Amino acid sequence: MTTFADLGLSAKLLKALEKTKLQTPTPIQAQAIPHIMQGRDLMGLAQTGTGKTAAFGLPLLHRLLDIGHPPGPKNVRALILAPTRELTLQIKDNLEVFTKGTPVKVTMVVGGASLFRQAQALAKGSDVLVATPGRLIDLLERGDVKLDQCGYLVLDEADHMLDMGFIHSLRKIAKHIPLKRQTLLFSATMPKDISEIADTYLRDPVRVQVTTTGKTADKVTQGVHFLPNGDKARVLEDYLKKHPGEQALVFGRTKHGSEKLMKLLAGWGFKAGSIHGNKSQSQRDRTLTEFRNGELDVLVATDVAARGIDIPTVRHVYNFDMPNVPENYVHRIGRTARAGAEGSSVSFCAPAEMGELQAIEKLLKKPLPILGGAPWAADIVAATPKPGQNRGQRPARPQGGRPQAAKPAGSKPQGARPAAKPKPMGGGNAPRRSDGGKPAGQRRSS
Ligand code: ADP
Ligand code: MG
Repeated sequence: MTTFADLGLSAKLLKALEKTKLQTPTPIQAQAIPHIMQGRDLMGLAQTGTGKTAAFGLPLLHRLLDIGHPPGPKNVRALILAPTRELTLQIKDNLEVFTKGTPVKVTMVVGGASLFRQAQALAKGSDVLVATPGRLIDLLERGDVKLDQCGYLVLDEADHMLDMGFIHSLRKIAKHIPLKRQTLLFSATMPKDISEIADTYLRDPVRVQVTTTGKTADKVTQGVHFLPNGDKARVLEDYLKKHPGEQALVFGRTKHGSEKLMKLLAGWGFKAGSIHGNKSQSQRDRTLTEFRNGELDVLVATDVAARGIDIPTVRHVYNFDMPNVPENYVHRIGRTARAGAEGSSVSFCAPAEMGELQAIEKLLKKPLPILGGAPWAADIVAATPKPGQNRGQRPARPQGGRPQAAKPAGSKPQGARPAAKPKPMGGGNAPRRSDGGKPAGQRRSS
């Protein structure tokens, strides 16, 4: 088996690694690190939770630890771009485990925080700058940071950044970075736009791919429960009660629906929190900390808010609403059974979601075991309006390149709620306790 020492990392890093839970390299680390050490550009494809941060972080720090003199004022030696504030912070925290006690300085800049203080932090120069694209562009335009000596560019969670107008932002940022640099791109999926970015910004890249997109962790028991939307909350309650003291992550489709569900669960006595685009950054940070500390048992999240965030202790993932992009199923399930632990995943499938289920099963190349109910008959499905049109494709990208990325992720730009249309069915997200008649008898499998 490959060890970190086999990969040629410096003694300093090996020593720092000893004190962490990173004992042997994960597959993406074992495969990517040697190429990065050789200075190659690289495209790393691996699902969430496979250790991509250290895959680029360790070889990067290996180089930077060797330099021995501080960067010039405002200068940056290595730039890491990440889509959200949470991920940026996570990357910074990850790297600082290894730079502690060394002169290597890691700075982060994200939206929603003081520009002035970030400019101050940058003034002294940074070995590594971790940034969200929007805020970095602001600082570049103000002349608060210089990238002309930047020798490394890392695009982390590149597929997620696409949804935020990334192509546009990257074009602006890359202009400031010398062509003579090493560029690394990490992504969980490989949509066409990512290949284009790779063609444009990477030079003769090595491609390292550890799992195919459709592969979920082996230790996750997966299953599907067929039930009408109106029953979902009650059934979720039953599942949650079956596993007291075990943390659960519940995925909702919309911000509004996720919030409602969280309140409902909290009302029923669960220690529940939610993260989604309608929450302020500080609220999201607080909720995540509480969840990580075990003060919350249930976290209700939307795909966008939860993407890429490291939540290591989750035992159960519930797809309260089916994901409308099948790859998101794999991302969601990737939140459980990490690092050898066991996990379970239950998907709730209402009549209007049969299409989503089929897309997932096609991607997984296997049917999900049935845990409850029975697959909806075609006539029931046909009679059910789809929740929201134009679903089933990638999450809506800003039309006409609406420059979302220029708005810092986290300064609550999502509050504008462009997408979420009212749901024809009264909502997969409008659970009620007593499952009585609801607005009218026309609900249900009507
Ligand atoms: P990704 O970016 O692929 O989603 P992360 O880099 O966030 O994954 O890592 C996911 C989790 O796995 C983190 O908790 C991290 O500390 C842990 N991890 C990373 N590498 C290893 C390793 N070699 N051994 C054990 N745990 C690891
Ligand atoms: Mg990551």
